[in-house]
Amino acid sequence: MIRDPETLTLLLDTIGRFVREKLVPQEANVGETDQIPEDIVRDMKALGLFGMSIPEAYGGMGLTMEEEVLAGFEISHTSPAFRSLFATNNGIGAQGIVIDGTEAQKQHYLPKIATGEIIGSFALTEPDSGSDAASLRTSAVKDGDSYVINGTKRYITNAPEAGIFTVMARTSAQIKGADGISAFIVEKGTPGLSLGAIDKKMGQKGAHTCDVIFEDVRIPAANLIGGVEGVGFKTAMKVLDKGRLNIAAASVGAAERMLADALRYARERKQFGKAIGEFQLIQAMLADSHTEIYAARCMVLDAARKRDEGRNVGTEAACAKLFASEMCGRVADRAVQIFGGAGYLAEYGIERFYRDVRLFRIYEGTSQIQQLVIARNLLRDRAA
Ligand SMILES: Cc1cc2nc3c(=O)[nH]c(=O)nc-3n(C[C@H](O)[C@H](O)[C@H](O)COP(=O)(O)OP(=O)(O)OC[C@H]3O[C@@H](n4cnc5c(N)ncnc54)[C@H](O)[C@@H]3O)c2cc1C
Repeated sequence: MIRDPETLTLLLDTIGRFVREKLVPQEANVGETDQIPEDIVRDMKALGLFGMSIPEAYGGMGLTMEEEVLAGFEISHTSPAFRSLFATNNGIGAQGIVIDGTEAQKQHYLPKIATGEIIGSFALTEPDSGSDAASLRTSAVKDGDSYVINGTKRYITNAPEAGIFTVMARTSAQIKGADGISAFIVEKGTPGLSLGAIDKKMGQKGAHTCDVIFEDVRIPAANLIGGVEGVGFKTAMKVLDKGRLNIAAASVGAAERMLADALRYARERKQFGKAIGEFQLIQAMLADSHTEIYAARCMVLDAARKRDEGRNVGTEAACAKLFASEMCGRVADRAVQIFGGAGYLAEYGIERFYRDVRLFRIYEGTSQIQQLVIARNLLRDRAA
């Protein structure tokens, strides 16, 4: 749903200009230094990018899902690491509070998340619990007016920068699986909370992950999201449904950028006395990429509109994430191929994109997990 086309066009134009003028020129630098420059972070805050999906009542832009994915396409025309810094505030690092938080939790945290004053992180994955997230072992034991948390979370995006963590932990040792899990807000600096070394990753330099370690971390009982035990896994899955649409939108945007770069190169590079774009085998790669991007864009927008109508889009979000992230991988591979030897060299930047977008097929549920979700929902919903 688009509330006001004029306002949205203005926002998309502003983001587009910011991407072209400020972010694209910094891509190589961020890729080399693994740091996003401070002035860029300041600009992101000034543009309101940290609060796009936070409701207006709490200081954000309150974008609808359709508006948010349209913004996501634009933002993703540059290195995914830029988006990653504010994406957790709009997505997995804040949506637990937005969707299921108490009014007091919303009032306390959301305004600071919306401005980027604090970065939110989402801590579900553990060393022994990834795709099988319901088997997580981190525990939260009630003790008077507090919970005491113990455990380790792994690969947590923006953990080194985070001011708060949405932490999924087991409040009942007796109840195995999802129903024994609750969601908590844990603030940085709470005694017993520590971070591992920053992970060395294949790509997305400038976006940081690390372990988050809880050793007798005592938090107020009021930080139980929604004030209800045993529904934390459901909260996490609702957050991920939305997150999957955002990753799908990021996949579309990144693929659009890589296709644009490949088109430019195909026009400029000459072999056998002609621009390589005149060879039909190159044209096939360009055409297949454009077709698949178009299909993914349509899927993402359709799922986003359905979500705005209040429909359950668990299946559509999984379909969009599966197709768009796999599509993005194929487009990245073709783009490198079109660049030939230059595609393999750091100087041209396309190999950086190739590495960066590999993650889209892995986090917020691997492609195999999306397939399982889609098939499970089909078998459930279309029972004879
Ligand atoms: C850079 C990065 C950032 C991340 N950020 C976050 C974050 O902010 N918060 C967070 O909580 N997590 C985060 N993650 C974790 C991410 O969501 C997990 O890595 C992902 O869900 C996969 O879990 P795993 O790594 O344990 O792989 P595993 O679950 O061990 O899977 C290994 C392989 O087995 C396959 N597999 C597993 N189960 C099945 C099955 N039943 N059927 C078929 N195939 C199966 C998988 O698809 C995969 O191919 C991040 C990961 C990375 C790399």
